[in-house]
Amino acid sequence: MTTSWIRDAVLIDNEWRRCPTVSDVYNPATEEVVGSAATASIADVDAAVRSARNAGKDWGRTDTGTRADLLDALHAQLVSGRDRLVAATVAEVGAPVTVAEASHVDLAIEIIASFADIARRMPAHDTIGNSTILRRPAGVVGCITPWNYPLYQLAAKVGAALAAGCTTVVKPAELTPLSTYLFCDALLEAGMASGVVNLVPGRGSVVGAAIVEHPGVDVVSFTGSTTVGRQVGRVAGEQLKRACLELGGKSASVVLDDADLSSAVVGSVEAAMLNSGQTCSAWTRLLVPRQRYAEAVEMAAAHSEAMTVGDPLDRNTQLGPVISGQQRAAIADSVERALARGARLAAGGTQTISDRGHYLRPTVLADVDRADPVAREEIFGPVLVVLPHDGDDDAIETANDSEYGLAGAVWSADRDRALAVAGRMDTGQVDVNGADFNPLAPFGGWKNSGLGRELGRVGIDEYTELTAVQL
Ligand code: NAD
Repeated sequence: MTTSWIRDAVLIDNEWRRCPTVSDVYNPATEEVVGSAATASIADVDAAVRSARNAGKDWGRTDTGTRADLLDALHAQLVSGRDRLVAATVAEVGAPVTVAEASHVDLAIEIIASFADIARRMPAHDTIGNSTILRRPAGVVGCITPWNYPLYQLAAKVGAALAAGCTTVVKPAELTPLSTYLFCDALLEAGMASGVVNLVPGRGSVVGAAIVEHPGVDVVSFTGSTTVGRQVGRVAGEQLKRACLELGGKSASVVLDDADLSSAVVGSVEAAMLNSGQTCSAWTRLLVPRQRYAEAVEMAAAHSEAMTVGDPLDRNTQLGPVISGQQRAAIADSVERALARGARLAAGGTQTISDRGHYLRPTVLADVDRADPVAREEIFGPVLVVLPHDGDDDAIETANDSEYGLAGAVWSADRDRALAVAGRMDTGQVDVNGADFNPLAPFGGWKNSGLGRELGRVGIDEYTELTAVQL
């Protein structure tokens, strides 16, 4: 165990204050303890909010150049600490090292750089006729993050909040606090003014709830499950405080009849299985033309079976374990129930592949009714459902037949046709033919996938209040 991963303090007013209780952090691949984190109390939350409010008096009056300077300094610290961030992510999430590098750490670093850049170029105000529209920080942002991409989520929230001139109180998920500690170390090294970011790890139902309920928190930025998101939204609504909610998904990858089937299927399988399927925006429903259904299922099964599941530290590994034994059992249960209702197992299954670690093989299910729970509920594991469609209108109707609307994909040889289909999908993001993720584009959901958007200029606006001054 790396000794520095034993962390027993909360960060308040730029001081590490020891807590009497800590909780262990487990490596999902080995099931061994890899570190520990403080368990904050409600009094700690109160002190953290006071620290953030106090810090906001100065930080909220800084110009955008000063904010960009801090974000640049943070970026430099994260770059120099990249190896430790990767190691912590592999240890606490169980992400394969190549996934931890690209999709967790490097993406988080890129996001911080993007906020520095936007802040530096952001106008202090806009003009509409005789009105000067002042863009002002919304105050203290409570940032509550999940365990699946802890560092990326943190960067999206704290980066935007700092660029907006807000101060924050951060609570990471209980299972993955280690990378958040390293991010806070980087902020201190970067010269952050006292109290601008405060860290209070601990239980969601205690520490998370106390942040949401605290009258000194002006905005809550929550990423997590739809169930908890509703609860957060209810409490925030009672106090008329803004809640940005990034929640679950069951996104559809729509393959049109003119698409290159092989690259569409391979791209969709890889996106569905990324991070062992624990990605909110994963395309977990693959919609293919009915006349090519059997062929597509076979391709998806063959590609899934060929994926390497195993030790996250091995650079050839494509899928590590899922986060916990509880999560593994819930995923396996969803698959078993679907099979009992008549789904066909085209690849994978629920058998263990190792006596240590919460591993699951990438699983492809076919012959599932689109109304079946496995085609509707977020499973949050490496499980792809392949459904047939009867043309563009039917594909769009099936894609939209979901309580969620976070992401999606369209595959077609014709860009205009793909764009037309994307424009009829009720979802926050659509990638055509496997296009790159854009960290400047708004990210967030329709329907039960949440409220508000993160990333880029729109992400900063979530933490901004406007004052219109008529001159
Ligand atoms: P979760 O809802 O259980 O927990 C998320 C965070 O909320 C954790 O920090 C937890 O401690 C805290 N929390 C729990 N109860 C709380 C309460 N009553 N008040 C305040 N905070 C509370 O979610 P999870 O299991 O950690 O994460 C997985 C879920 O997150 C999935 O549903 C996934 O789709 C979703 N997710 C969404 C996005 C997105 O951007 N839309 C991104 C990643 C994950």
